[in-house]
Amino acid sequence: MNSTDTPGTGPTIENLRDALRRFSAARDWDQFHTPKNLALALAGETGELVQHFRWLTPEESAALPAAEQAAVAAEIADVLMFLVRLADRLDIDPIAASYAKLAENERRYPVDRARGTALRHDQLP
Ligand SMILES: [Mg+2]
Repeated sequence: MNSTDTPGTGPTIENLRDALRRFSAARDWDQFHTPKNLALALAGETGELVQHFRWLTPEESAALPAAEQAAVAAEIADVLMFLVRLADRLDIDPIAASYAKLAENERRYPVDRARGTALRHDQLP
């Protein structure tokens, strides 16, 4: 049996949210996990993530050495965990919010006008 088969530990946002709740509660850290603090921590972790790409060429950024790839994975985990925790503390469903935003972006960037261009929606022909 794979650990992801265990109820409550499978790879879902809800299970990650619940695991983070347990992690925080066990350490009595909810008192520190205010939305403000979580947003600042998220920004800090995002900075740690992008630092791995500083000064790389586009080609280098797409072919990271294994050790660098592992370090980037760890920072992606930090970013995702703080993002999920922030959404939880604000009672926001991040998946529902993302699908809503994707639908909005589909309206703002119609394929026939946005395909192959990096222009912003208000600059599209
Ligand atoms: Mg980090």
